[in-house]
Amino acid sequence: MLAPTLDTAIEFLKGVGPKRAELLQKELGIFTCEQLLNYFPFRYIDRTRFYKINELDPDLPYVQILGRITSKEVIGEKQKKRLVARLTDETGSIELVWFQSLKWVDEHLMKGKVYIVFGKPAVFNGSFSISHADLESYPRPATITGNLRLQPVYNSTEKLKKFFLDSKGIQKLVTLVIEQQIREVKETLPLYILQKYHMLSRREALLNIHFPKDVQALKEAEKRLKFEELFFIQLQLLHNKQLRELRFKGHSFDTVGEKVNVFYKELLPFKLTNAQKRVIKEIRTDTQRGIQMNRLVQGDVGSGKTVVALMSMLLACDNGFQACMMAPTEILARQHYSSILSLLKDRLVKVAILTGSTTRKQRTLLHKELEAGEIDLLIGTHALIEDKVVFKNLGMVVIDEQHRFGVEQRARLWRKNTIPPHILVMTATPIPRTLAMTLYGDLDVSVIDELPAGRKPIETRHLYEGQRLRMFGFMKQEIAKGRQVYVVYPLIKESEKLDLLHLEAGIEQMSYQFPLPEYQISIVHGKMRNADKEYEMQRFIKGVSQIMVATTVIEVGVNVPNASVMVIENAERFGLSQLHQLRGRVGRGAEQSFCILMSGNKLSADGKLRLETMVKTNNGFEISEIDLQLRGPGDITGTQQSGVLELKLADLAKDQLILQEARNTVIDILSEDPMLDDPKSSLLRTYLSKRSRGIAFDKIS
Ligand code: ADP
Ligand code: MG
Repeated sequence: MLAPTLDTAIEFLKGVGPKRAELLQKELGIFTCEQLLNYFPFRYIDRTRFYKINELDPDLPYVQILGRITSKEVIGEKQKKRLVARLTDETGSIELVWFQSLKWVDEHLMKGKVYIVFGKPAVFNGSFSISHADLESYPRPATITGNLRLQPVYNSTEKLKKFFLDSKGIQKLVTLVIEQQIREVKETLPLYILQKYHMLSRREALLNIHFPKDVQALKEAEKRLKFEELFFIQLQLLHNKQLRELRFKGHSFDTVGEKVNVFYKELLPFKLTNAQKRVIKEIRTDTQRGIQMNRLVQGDVGSGKTVVALMSMLLACDNGFQACMMAPTEILARQHYSSILSLLKDRLVKVAILTGSTTRKQRTLLHKELEAGEIDLLIGTHALIEDKVVFKNLGMVVIDEQHRFGVEQRARLWRKNTIPPHILVMTATPIPRTLAMTLYGDLDVSVIDELPAGRKPIETRHLYEGQRLRMFGFMKQEIAKGRQVYVVYPLIKESEKLDLLHLEAGIEQMSYQFPLPEYQISIVHGKMRNADKEYEMQRFIKGVSQIMVATTVIEVGVNVPNASVMVIENAERFGLSQLHQLRGRVGRGAEQSFCILMSGNKLSADGKLRLETMVKTNNGFEISEIDLQLRGPGDITGTQQSGVLELKLADLAKDQLILQEARNTVIDILSEDPMLDDPKSSLLRTYLSKRSRGIAFDKIS
């Protein structure tokens, strides 16, 4: 048979065969030799360092110990069955434990022999033990990988391990591919870029990511591969942006007319902040270029994004177009609708709302009016995207709280007009720079980095369960001053029943503390009917009730300026951005506002850091960066966007510099050679044409 190439199915690599090939496909998505070569270790063990048993410490990561097996036995029954061995060196001994693959371990582990053992030491019943340690016979055989200084560790799965494809097994296969096929690996980055940034060739990088010569070589390999990964994402994003701008004409908003002017001069109840003015100007400039605008507005909670959205929509109306604004929840859509109605005082434009609970009769009428161009502004939820919703002439789309909508949903709105409308995306809270560059790298970004004047920063306190009475006392004091209070409980799917019980217990306790008729409590949670929710919300908004007990349904956008206290129960269970978002519900009026974070007495290190961060700062940009460090990008944006963020090697929390470098490089290349037709860009063109089938841009046209 011919020697395998990089494209060869993994099945034909020596020692794989159909069964293991099937598992590699199912478990790791590896179909070809090349894909195996691109399956990178997730960490490395320093094989030059052997620990003595008396040096062990539970804080150590994986360690390597040289010792003799002095005893070995299988104990326990059925589920609890395990193999326990004792490893001894001249300084002491530790226990090695296996709960799985007992038979295999029993056959391969010989009492009296010396082994090199890898594993993470843990303290169990007061002494050290390592479970599921990796074993190697001693001395090491003299193969290519036998004298590696840094041992690669590959992720495997239980199923793969049953077929001997544990980390070691995978390493063996990778070794084969490298021995036979590394010379086929082709360069993907133009030479001048490699030279400019002193980066390894792709071949050297792949070799060193699997079997690094030393730590320095590993770092260089990682840098090269991370750069490549981020570079191509940026190339695709920015190239798409460029194509979109070339291909899609946009409505040119030539005039600032009566509607914007009257609103600004007669209706606007406050002075715009400088940041708001700047962003409105950016939008104004963008919309008169004759190119479709795709702009992201980032601003902290309360920075006044709504009025920026409204003025942009009025600008569209001034130029003879309709506009719409889409929000992720019904409550939020209604909130926008009523704040926009009250800002407009029934003048200038006709506004309508469309949500899931709009009746069929209303809907039919609304569809007609919309198509006839009788409605100027439409506000609503996902219902706006439905194909039945047809505009006469849609010129501007505002999407609030963007991270809840997918890229595809964005695109569906574009298609509502032959010339696509301008798109303004507004995020609920600031997102870290690296995330913005990756998720929204094809958008222009505006930042509202200033809160309206006269806002007093919210004071945040963290109280433990034992201080609950103090919290109730504080609530009473503020209610006596005429303020209103939110009390928010976590409610997540996984523990929904228990969470609802906590909520109910909390309400019961509160009804003792805050008896009728002096105090009224509104209750809103996701399990209620919409009509009931709405009724309870209205009681709170109108000031009939002083306390609003809720689950996170109130998280987004609710605006009750008289509410000045936010109590968050089990605050340690919320993520940072969610806490910040919740806190943003208060501090909207002229009064000093407060946020009280209630937590149990025991906190994890992360939980503690989250609460401390909240107490320390009100700045959403700062909070988002810490959130990214703590949770990683996937969790921050939610699952909808995760496809965009499936990075193999680069880490948006840590690799900011590489990302910036990659993005700048792409910007430079595209500004010098926009169509990439210079011969030195040929690799980049090849990459893009290989990719262009799958990308969202093509689906849109
Ligand atoms: P967010 O950016 O969180 O969506 P909103 O648009 O809801 O913020 O604005 C929060 C509150 O601040 C609203 O009550 C709004 O009327 C008010 N507001 C917005 N801009 C200003 C301003 N320039 N001066 C004073 N109040 C403002
Ligand atoms: Mg808002």
